[in-house]
Amino acid sequence: MPSYTPPLRDMRFVLHEVLDVVATLKRLPAHADVDADTIDAVLEEGGKFASEVLAPLNAVGDEQGCTLDKATHEVTSPKGFKEAYAKYVEGGWPALSCDPAYGGQGLPHVVSQCLFEMLNSANQAWTMYPGLSHGAYECLHTHGTDVQKRLYLDKLTSGHWTGTMCLTEPQCGTDLGLLRTKAEPQADGSYKLTGNKIFISAGEHDMAENIVHLVLARLPDAPAGSKGISLFAVPKWKVKTDGSLGERNGIWCGGLEHKMGIHGNATAQIVLEDAEGTLVGAPNKGLSAMFVMMNAARLGVGMQSLGLTEVAYQNAAAYAKDRLQMRSLSGPKEPTKPADPIIVHPDVRKMLLTARAYAEGGRALAVFTTLLLDREVATADDAERAECADLVALLTPIVKAFFTDNAWIATSHCLQVFGGHGYIREWGMEQFVRDSRINMIYEGTNTIQSLDLLGRKVLGDNGAKLKKFGKLIADFVEAEGTDEAMQEFVNPLAELGEKVTKLTTEIGLKAFKNPDEVGAAAVDYLRVCGHLVFAYLWARMAKVALAKQDSGDTFYVAKLATARFYFAKLLPETASLIRTARAGSATMMEFDAALF
Ligand SMILES: Cc1cc2nc3c(=O)[nH]c(=O)nc-3n(C[C@H](O)[C@H](O)[C@H](O)COP(=O)(O)OP(=O)(O)OC[C@H]3O[C@@H](n4cnc5c(N)ncnc54)[C@H](O)[C@@H]3O)c2cc1C
Repeated sequence: MPSYTPPLRDMRFVLHEVLDVVATLKRLPAHADVDADTIDAVLEEGGKFASEVLAPLNAVGDEQGCTLDKATHEVTSPKGFKEAYAKYVEGGWPALSCDPAYGGQGLPHVVSQCLFEMLNSANQAWTMYPGLSHGAYECLHTHGTDVQKRLYLDKLTSGHWTGTMCLTEPQCGTDLGLLRTKAEPQADGSYKLTGNKIFISAGEHDMAENIVHLVLARLPDAPAGSKGISLFAVPKWKVKTDGSLGERNGIWCGGLEHKMGIHGNATAQIVLEDAEGTLVGAPNKGLSAMFVMMNAARLGVGMQSLGLTEVAYQNAAAYAKDRLQMRSLSGPKEPTKPADPIIVHPDVRKMLLTARAYAEGGRALAVFTTLLLDREVATADDAERAECADLVALLTPIVKAFFTDNAWIATSHCLQVFGGHGYIREWGMEQFVRDSRINMIYEGTNTIQSLDLLGRKVLGDNGAKLKKFGKLIADFVEAEGTDEAMQEFVNPLAELGEKVTKLTTEIGLKAFKNPDEVGAAAVDYLRVCGHLVFAYLWARMAKVALAKQDSGDTFYVAKLATARFYFAKLLPETASLIRTARAGSATMMEFDAALF
């Protein structure tokens, strides 16, 4: 069975030494009292929960999956999941970054984001249950009526109820404009919903008293397409005005999907038959209300993949030091043993360092983005809020798609380090690969993320958001450009920044004549931007590590070496990505569709 050690040292490095989150939080009245000791203590406890309670259940969930009783429509989660969830609730974990007005602890999102990385490393399938609840909480907190907030937020905060997001239908996945579920207004102001949803994560289970489904549906007079979609809160058990549970609502699980990974999470077909619901936000504005949940979930999916990258790396690194095969090309390294450990082989090291650089770079970007989110939510300064919102909007598709693509590469590399043993179930590596694959698909496929980045976030505002990030890079380059020791990091960063500016202009000009040029370049473009952001953060991490490399703490030596590996071996991928992004759409779009 794989093991997992929470990466608390690296979290402290990112939080305190690189990004100095406490100094930023001190300026925000809601978080002025949060200090480093509190953050560290919370994460240490959260790490224990992840490694001691959740990690042992990861393989169990994969083996057993969820089971549906077709007569009652009830779903039983894998052995131990329910008990672990009860401990999670008892420990107050769901409330960590929720509003104190609804029983939350009011801690900044950076803390809960780090917690979620650890929970995901330990058990992604389990973590999706509270993960989706948190998205539902955010959505109702922003768009719910006073009554909805009173009835639902305390329960979602405490974790006694969980949440889901019900968008997908058989004929409608990426294109939500095709949605058919109907909502009929009732005399008492409520709505009756009828339709079929598929692929609903955590859609039915036995871990909580009630499930609050956030459902997209159409009102009778709604315009066609995505402009006619409204959002509804539809509880599994109806909720009386005093908050207690009423009768069973007309929403149930009609089937569970059998799937490649995340077996411990119930992916439910949901049937709505005159299900009672209440409108969230304005009529026909359901998509913008749901976007609160989707944006939270997109960052959340990035954290799933970061978690998997880290845990796969840890296990592969341990295995590589232990497994003896062949001799080092440069002569035996452990001559007393029958062979050297495979860690002596350059390509094994390359695979390990790739996973490590993606995990550590991802952690820095996750905290960086979430700190911007904390500022956006909690600052009293309108200009700061707008600035942070723009950067979060720009970085969200990158976190979602770059992290999840990287995790697919990294978990596969880490499996490869195990050779044939990686392919065998008992080592747990193949589960990481299988679990990681869905992250590239749901919450908007990675192609859709790249169209969002290039089409909407970059070209859609004439590069204004990108320029804001460019300014951060320019300031850093100017500040560090004269430091000889930083040249190896600053120069490639500055160079890539210039290339991205040129590439953006070039695609923008081509897109005026032919919009397919955006679709043809977007995926490569996002990956280039992912590297640009990683290069910025790896350079910042290198700066801290350079200053402390002689401190005697080998953590900084390793950090610097990983930074050098990143710049030498991973960043150069951008050269070929830029070439393919520039190669345009013609070779694909002029290929006769009949010839496929
Ligand atoms: C395990 C699992 C859990 C899920 N959980 C949930 C959940 O909790 N709630 C929920 O509502 N949904 C959920 N989903 C659904 C998921 O979000 C969708 O599968 C996803 O959005 C893609 O939709 P689709 O499967 O219909 O694919 P399609 O939309 O049919 O897309 C098929 C392919 O075409 C590509 N494509 C589509 N349009 C474009 C375009 N304009 N440009 C370029 N390429 C395009 C896509 O990128 C994809 O590669 C889940 C799915 C799975 C498998």
